[in-house]
Amino acid sequence: MGSLEFHHGPVENNCDPPMTNPLDPEEFRRQGHIMIDFIADYFKNIEKYPVLSQVQPGYLKKRLPESAPYNPEPIETILQDVRYHIVPGITHWQSPSYFGYFPSSGSIAGFLGEMLSTGFNVVGFNWMSSPAATELESIVMDWLGDMLQLPKSFLFSGKGGGVLQGTTCEAIVCTMAAARDQMLSRIGKDNIGRLVVYGSDQTHSALKKASQIVGIHPGNFRAINTAQSTEFALSPELLRLTICSDIEKGLVPLFLCATMGTTATTSVDPLGALCDVAKDYGMWVHVDAAYAGSVCICPEFRHFIEGVEGANSFSFNAHKWFFTTLDCCCLWVKNPTALIDSLSTNPEFLRNKASDSKQVVDYKDWQIALSRRFRALKLWLVLRSYGVANLRNFLRSHVKMAEIFERLVRENKWFEVVVPRNFAMVCFRISPSAISKYPGDDGNALINEVNCKLLEAINASGNVYMTHAVVGGMYVLRCAIGATLTEEKHVLMAWKVVHDHADAVLSTYQ
Ligand SMILES: *Cc1c(COP(=O)(O)O)cnc(C)c1O
Repeated sequence: MGSLEFHHGPVENNCDPPMTNPLDPEEFRRQGHIMIDFIADYFKNIEKYPVLSQVQPGYLKKRLPESAPYNPEPIETILQDVRYHIVPGITHWQSPSYFGYFPSSGSIAGFLGEMLSTGFNVVGFNWMSSPAATELESIVMDWLGDMLQLPKSFLFSGKGGGVLQGTTCEAIVCTMAAARDQMLSRIGKDNIGRLVVYGSDQTHSALKKASQIVGIHPGNFRAINTAQSTEFALSPELLRLTICSDIEKGLVPLFLCATMGTTATTSVDPLGALCDVAKDYGMWVHVDAAYAGSVCICPEFRHFIEGVEGANSFSFNAHKWFFTTLDCCCLWVKNPTALIDSLSTNPEFLRNKASDSKQVVDYKDWQIALSRRFRALKLWLVLRSYGVANLRNFLRSHVKMAEIFERLVRENKWFEVVVPRNFAMVCFRISPSAISKYPGDDGNALINEVNCKLLEAINASGNVYMTHAVVGGMYVLRCAIGATLTEEKHVLMAWKVVHDHADAVLSTYQ
């Protein structure tokens, strides 16, 4: 106790506080109510905050103490600090004026499902460790597969099956590992350096990351070029040419990632034709529908995944545009055995009769980690609380609002829609013709600069948040509609913000 001045970190003192049980039911009830009230008020007042956090890097270190408190602090005090120090550093993804990246669409059902799952706090690595966690997951994945009209071969009721992963990145790592081991068992482990992975220049970086993790030679990753004239979709002909040239070099085509709803522009790769090519070379095809997959529960959008029957695996993120909190990536595979062969380990301490009987699913063998959360609960609550009918209504209302925004862009002579809208995201920019001294063919850098300035001005206003992409050398703004609280008036306001800032930015270029 004499060396206090030299002591860093939490400092002991003489008056130890009374000890309470950290899971006392009545205290949980009391603090839980306070927390729910806090969050309800947050949703109610969310429009008062700048959508994009305006803090500078390192802001929080200046505001919080150097070390953790030694004595307990009441929830009321902690929430005060959340209000004053954390909220300013939040970018409000639940704001109705959030149009960045893709939405992170919360809902009451998703939230309460998450809460319930946290309450049970089970570690559901195998069936035994919580039979309901496994069985509900299998049931919900079949329900959802059915809603998407996935071929029976992807469902447990066929010979496939679905699993909830954390994110698309993990889903691709797992499927690529399965594909790799299947292939290496045929051609020999020494040939790993010959395996090639294919996507397009629009494929999400998750594919690249997965290739790095799975041990694909860095020189064997192909990002095939796309073009604006074909709406940035991957060409089956180019894929075939690339594969043929790789085979000539003695390489082995392994894995194709086709995308339904690319991140930059929501383009859709022609699944059927791509799967036909891949089939000729015995490759694994994964369909990444992270953002747009959910909208295929509406019959009028189902055609976007036509051809999926030729793929080996399919995934979409329920945490993007399906009212389920992060994290929740839904992955279906036709051949679960391939996944299990690649990912299973069976240490003695996990052995049990149910697993030995081979009559149960042990999801630990379908994913990277051993421990796993009871994610199916939140998805089950979402499906039940809204039903297919309202889930379709929500998604359609977002698409309708995107149509409105798209029309406003098209009707304005300064602007252009750069890629035709497929879903609820509009890709647009100030058109080169809006600048009177636009210097013709080499003006691309200039018009990109104008659009970049426009986006910065929009986001600095705090009124809305949008993000950008660069496609075919063009800097484009993306307006992604899908935050659950968004209504038509917010979309109209967003357009006004864009328009007013364009007016200001353009006036400096005339
Ligand atoms: C968002 C997105 C991903 C990445 O999803 P994570 O769940 O964050 O890994 C992958 N692919 C596409 C097409 C996406 O839009």
